[in-house]
Amino acid sequence: MIPKTIVFDLGKVLLDFDYSIAARKLQPRCRISAEELLKIIDQSPLLYRFETNLMTTEQFFGEIQSKSGFLGDLAEFGEIFGNIFTPIEPMLQLHAALRARQMPAYIFSNTNHLAVRHIRMRYPFFQDFDGYILSCEHGVMKPDERLYEIVERYTGQNGSDLLYIDDRPENIATANRRGWQTVLHESPVGTIEAVQKVGLLNEQKTGRS
Ligand SMILES: [Mg+2]
Repeated sequence: MIPKTIVFDLGKVLLDFDYSIAARKLQPRCRISAEELLKIIDQSPLLYRFETNLMTTEQFFGEIQSKSGFLGDLAEFGEIFGNIFTPIEPMLQLHAALRARQMPAYIFSNTNHLAVRHIRMRYPFFQDFDGYILSCEHGVMKPDERLYEIVERYTGQNGSDLLYIDDRPENIATANRRGWQTVLHESPVGTIEAVQKVGLLNEQKTGRS
């Protein structure tokens, strides 16, 4: 069955990211090592709280300052913290090809306001979605079912009408339980093949009428 809407995870699917880039750039302005900085900002309880909207950007920055001694202001921090992304070009081309066929597309991401602001300014492809379901706007993270319910509400689709691409098995598992079609993203080649296999790139017109 050909899905009607495609849902993209962002990190490691459309944009690669590496928090060690930020840690290295922040370090000269801090009293702790780049390694210690990385522990604070990458996959940390602090980042989790930021990405589930339990703290504001200012509060997150305040915690970083007190833990690291960072000497700059929030603007300087935000620029460095957000500038950790690299486009995954074949996947951006896949997104563009689907949009050229009028395929409804959504972003579904665990992320934070600093990253989103940076990505919005830097990467034009990010404007070209019908909607965005971001953990930091809903106070809940993938793989929590509640965020998937929000995707279904926003897209107006559920079950096999949705095709979801994500690089994390636990995120895919929740989608599978809800009956979505899924692709566990391991490489652009594999994902593009999987998208072709469900018939999306072969149809002249899909989704919107
Ligand atoms: Mg990801």
